Amino acid sequence: MQRTLILLKPDAVQRRMMGRLVTRFEDKGLNFVAMKLMRVTPELAKQHYAEHIEKGWYPTLEAFITGGPVLAAVLEGLEAITVVRDMLGATSGLAAAPGTIRGDYSSSRQMNLVHGSDGPEAAEREIALYFQASELCDHTPTIVPWLRAADE
Ligand code: ADP
Ligand code: MG
Repeated sequence: MQRTLILLKPDAVQRRMMGRLVTRFEDKGLNFVAMKLMRVTPELAKQHYAEHIEKGWYPTLEAFITGGPVLAAVLEGLEAITVVRDMLGATSGLAAAPGTIRGDYSSSRQMNLVHGSDGPEAAEREIALYFQASELCDHTPTIVPWLRAADE
């Protein structure tokens, strides 16, 4: 079982897409273990996107991600990190395959609606950046036996 961080970015919140996007992850069988609407500060943006800070486009990314509320959440599931990344599609909505979230709803390389951690180390680091341990709500949904076989 894996956990991953997602952010419904400010474009998703402003476009009134939170419900549709949450439904998509629920429909896939992923389990929400934490969720909050919050504002990303410039300091948090720099920590989250540390790998991109030297890039010429970083200032525009920071302006975007701090420009309105985000919905931060932790998702749990088998291979959740890869499953979520595959659901998002390629970084640019212009390149993302139809059927993916970015492919279906984004026409931008920046305003691509949803963030997902890109590996186990990133997931651990990003979950700790956005959530206190006490905010993670451990639970096993009663429907799990009808989502996958017991030995999966
Ligand atoms: P991903 O979110 O798919 O892991 P990256 O780690 O490459 O993508 O980039 C982080 C975020 O920065 C992207 O999701 C997107 O919002 C933004 N971004 C990526 N490339 C560019 C770019 N060339 N110009 C502006 N913003 C970008
Ligand atoms: Mg990335």
